Amino acid sequence: MAPGEANTATAGAPARRRRVLLFPLPYQGHINPMFQLAGLLHARGFAVTVFHARFNAPDPSRHPAYGFVPVPDGLPAGTPETVAATMEHILAVNTSCEAPFRERLAALLAAPGARDEVACLVADAHLLALVRVARRLGVPTLVLRTGSAACFRNFLANPVLCEKGYLPVGAESQLDAPVRELLPYRVRDLMGANSRSRHEHELMCELLSRAVEAVRSSAGFVLNTFDALEADDLAATRRDLAGVPVFDVGPLHKLSPASSSSLLQQDRSCLHWLDAQAPASVLYISFGSLASMSGEDLAEAAWGVANSGQPFLWALRPGLARGAALPDGFAAATGGRGLVVGWAPQEEVLAHGAVGGFWTHGGWNSAMEGACGGVPMLCRPCFGDQMGNARHVEHVWRAGIALDGGVLERGAVEAAVRRLMRGEEGEGMRGRARELRSRAAAAVADGGSSRLCVDKLVNHILWL
Ligand code: UDP
Repeated sequence: MAPGEANTATAGAPARRRRVLLFPLPYQGHINPMFQLAGLLHARGFAVTVFHARFNAPDPSRHPAYGFVPVPDGLPAGTPETVAATMEHILAVNTSCEAPFRERLAALLAAPGARDEVACLVADAHLLALVRVARRLGVPTLVLRTGSAACFRNFLANPVLCEKGYLPVGAESQLDAPVRELLPYRVRDLMGANSRSRHEHELMCELLSRAVEAVRSSAGFVLNTFDALEADDLAATRRDLAGVPVFDVGPLHKLSPASSSSLLQQDRSCLHWLDAQAPASVLYISFGSLASMSGEDLAEAAWGVANSGQPFLWALRPGLARGAALPDGFAAATGGRGLVVGWAPQEEVLAHGAVGGFWTHGGWNSAMEGACGGVPMLCRPCFGDQMGNARHVEHVWRAGIALDGGVLERGAVEAAVRRLMRGEEGEGMRGRARELRSRAAAAVADGGSSRLCVDKLVNHILWL
């Protein structure tokens, strides 16, 4: 048996099942951790088959060792542009993939020897319909949630928070009220705090309760986090999910063998540009794969960065500001100290010594990648779990600043960039970010908490 391989053969015992099926939710922030988990399990001796929607389909040529089963979804191309449309899209992925997934999974299971080979399906927590399909066909299911443990506690608490009147938010004045059941969240940090209509509120409640059902009915719950980052939230999650084993195996991108699952072409030239910059001098800016901003906010962000005088690398995704471009004069004003690319190799950028700060929308992958890079963060959350993540970055990790809601204003941006990148306050945040990096490194080192959890996960799957 190769080192690290799944232990399948004890003398006289039946061979254990060693093929894992995966189904990611088809968005970048969900695809990356699912493929990282795939890489991890493959390195431990499992064969991997990825079922996937046609929408945002992965590129099989990047993962020649895996099987791929496309599942027709009939969904229109193009990323949903509003929060409500994104939630509706998640439900539509469930509905439209359900029947074709059933057919394809049944066909796979009907192949000779398949029943003895398939150990389980690992599905994204937002794919309840597909979890149910697998279970009805006799395949055990594990669920991967790509957010934090704290965020999942918010999922669990949502019905109580609605019952107690925190949600839907009635008046602006409620936004800063502490949520006693979920400290240190304030109302504004909750999933759904910025729902703009009864319809959006109901969609959010439905998404959260479906994810909780997927997790509660699963044979195991995988989280991309680690004990030294979220010890209390993990302990509370384990208490709440009595009976469902929880595997905190993050940061997955540090544990998994590298292989990119980026949907967009990453511009690697920016790594050479970073090589020529002074240590910890560059502000890296990226708002992830889904968040959007108005043309006005983009202009204010740009002038704030320009006026700060700070060197920067901006991963300005096409579509971020729905067609709006950087303002006239911005390139001339920042010439020589800034680089703008469409999409960056973010994990490598954040691990680069020249990067000294990260302006992020606060997606969980970005927050983890920033923490693992030891980089303090300026968070400008837009929706979903981003507000709660920003709250943790600022208030719990004390490794960054949250630029809460409202319209962006160049003076506020300039001041925040200066606080993050310079002076004693910036140094303090950088020091705490580096402490997070050390804790992440310890979690994935031999004997570290996440590595031990991977061992447990491997054994758990083998004995399902
Ligand atoms: N990402 C990237 N290049 C970029 C910006 C982002 O590869 O220029 C990756 C990033 O490393 C992360 C993912 O896209 O893994 C974004 O996930 P996150 O949870 O941060 O945000 P989402 O896109 O889901 O809002």
